[in-house]
This record gives sequence, structure tokens and C-alpha cells, in this order.
Amino acid sequence: MLSGLVDPVGRRISYLRVSVTDRCDMRCTYCMSERMTFLPRADVLDFEELLRLCQVFVKQGVRKLRITGGEPLVRRDIGPFFETLGQWLHHPEQAGTLDELTLTTNGSRLALYAETLFRAGVRRVNVSLDTLDEERFAHITRRGKLTATLDGIRAAREAGLAVRVNAVAMAGVNDDEFDAMLAWCGKIGADLCLIETMPMGDTGEDRTARYLPLSDVRADLAQRWTLEPLMDRSAGPARYMRVAETGQRIGFITPMSHNFCSTCNRVRLSCTGQLYTCLGHEDGVDLRAILRSGGDDAALLAGIQSAIDRKPLRHDFMLGTHSGEVSGPVRHMSVTGG
Ligand code: SAM
Ligand code: SF4
Repeated sequence: MLSGLVDPVGRRISYLRVSVTDRCDMRCTYCMSERMTFLPRADVLDFEELLRLCQVFVKQGVRKLRITGGEPLVRRDIGPFFETLGQWLHHPEQAGTLDELTLTTNGSRLALYAETLFRAGVRRVNVSLDTLDEERFAHITRRGKLTATLDGIRAAREAGLAVRVNAVAMAGVNDDEFDAMLAWCGKIGADLCLIETMPMGDTGEDRTARYLPLSDVRADLAQRWTLEPLMDRSAGPARYMRVAETGQRIGFITPMSHNFCSTCNRVRLSCTGQLYTCLGHEDGVDLRAILRSGGDDAALLAGIQSAIDRKPLRHDFMLGTHSGEVSGPVRHMSVTGG
């Protein structure tokens, strides 16, 4: 079926990222402030509401769902939520409407959930891990434990899940570790994806000073590793290369230095039911208001389409190079879902 959700420049929306909570057991320096105030629970959509919205998108041709947050695995009853979504998947015995169900997690509780996720039909997970050094990990995440995330990654691999390690590249923080991380990912059979720091929400940290253009990182890595260009884009913003020495892939997400907007097929549903059509813009449509005022699927669809009709041509993140000024949305990545 062709997607019913097409924006004015012809970009077909086939990928929905769903934030199921703004809460998290970590406070990564680039994502949250030390003392975050989380949303009152009543503001956050319950699972029934989330499922209802997801279903409207899937009926309109969305083929890929990524569950994120905050930390999705800290939300109670997240297991049954995945099991329900998994029933929509297309597989040999069942002509489902969804091609892929996946999640992004910090890994702290992945060891508890890896098997449940696999049983539900999840086959790939993105795990955020910016360093392999215990002290650095504690410093970056402010309260995370490296061993828990490593245990989570091991459990995921043992359960049969493919793992992509996501690392935010930060000058002076982890930029001396990319070789080690590439080698480690090769050893455990995981892809590595480096991400440029984006200015989302106030975190109490100066991200301008940490900004590292990944074109420089790639050129540096290419002096020691054989990086072969690949065409696969996996429906996401990452550009991949094969690392000949390990056989695994390295991906680069470069929203700051390169714009990936022309092929953007994604929209994001926040945990409060705001639909954002661009990570870099504030403009959203309040689907929760439609839901909670008794709106039917047609009303929800009209709301969704009105947001998609306004999907910006491109994001306009700016990192001031001289003034230290940062400009980007005031909302945190943990609300929108990364
Ligand atoms: N808690 C989960 C995790 O950390 O994987 C899922 C949510 S987190 C907001 C999703 C992704 O966004 C993570 O890979 C994280 O590294 C990334 N992220 C958060 N803030 C960012 C920022 N300011 N710039 C770039 N990436 C960011
Ligand atoms: Fe939590 Fe993920 Fe944000 Fe880190 S990046 S604070 S783990 S939501």
C-alpha cells in the first residue's frame, strides 16, 4: 500500500519515532540538565492512547516504528506494549502492516528485556554508549553505570538482536576513543554510529565547545581503517561505510555539517502526543488534545496531515562558532525522542 502521508514536496512518511516517556535513569550532559523536572504523569500518554495513535499512522502506511524516550525501558509495562506492537509486524505466517519495530535505549535495563523484545519481533536495537571508560561514562551520563549498559549489549546479542552502538562525538570528551570503539564493536559484531552534538534544550552545558564535525573524524579514521562507502541508508539519517578490517559498519549522523532533510521520511510523536515533523523545529500538532476530546480516527488523521503539510524543508540548527551561541529547539531530545 502506498503511504497516505505525503508532504507538499513529495516526501512520503513511512517512519514514526515514538517517545514513550520523558523520564530517564541517566542525565547525559548533552541531553538533560542535572536537575530535570519531569512531566506530570497525567500529561504523558498512556499505552492505550499511544497504541491508538500508532495504529492511525500504521494504517496510513507507516512501516517502521522506533520506540524511544527518555529511556523507554524505564517505563512500567513496556514489555506488553512491545508485545502488542509486535503483533502488527509482517512475517512469513502473518501479513502484518509493519516492517520493523525497534528501539533506542541507553542499555541500562536491556539485560532484563532483551528476550522479551526478541520474542515481540524486535530484531535490531540502537544502544547509546559514548565511551568504554567507566569514569568517563559516569561523567557523561552523570548517573549511569557502564557495566549495566555493557551487560545489556551482551544480553541483546545473546538474544539474537543486532546492535548498533550510538556514540555522540564530543571534542575533548571521547574523541580519543573512536579507534577503540570501532575495534570493540568489530569484536562483538555491532555497528558503530557517530552522531554530531545537536543543540536541543538547555542542559547546563556548552555544547558549542564540544561540537566536532564528523567529516574530520571520518578523514582521520580513514588513515588507519579501510572505510568502504555503502549505499544502505536503513531509512534513517545515518550514512554508512563498511569497515573492511572488522566487517561491521560505521555510520555518521551529521545534522550540523550536512543536511539530510531532502530524503527525510520521519515524523516524531512526543510522549505528550505532540507530533513533530522535524527535530529542528518547534512547530507541532497536539494529537493528545484531539484524542482526549473524543476525536475519532478521521479527526486524528486530519491533525496528522495538517502537521505533515507544514513539514519544514530543512532543519536549521545553528551552532555559533564565535559567540558561543547555540540555537535549536527549547524542548529536550528526551521529550521529542531522539
Ligand atoms: N535514552 C535512550 C538513549 O539514550 O538511547 C533513548 C533516547 S535518547 C534522547 C536518543 C538518542 O539521542 C541517543 O542516542 C542520544 O545519544 C541522542 N542525543 C540526545 N541528546 C543529543 C544531542 N544534544 N545531540 C545529539 N544526540 C543526542
Ligand atoms: Fe537519558 Fe538517553 Fe537522554 Fe542520556 S541520551 S539522558 S540516556 S534520554
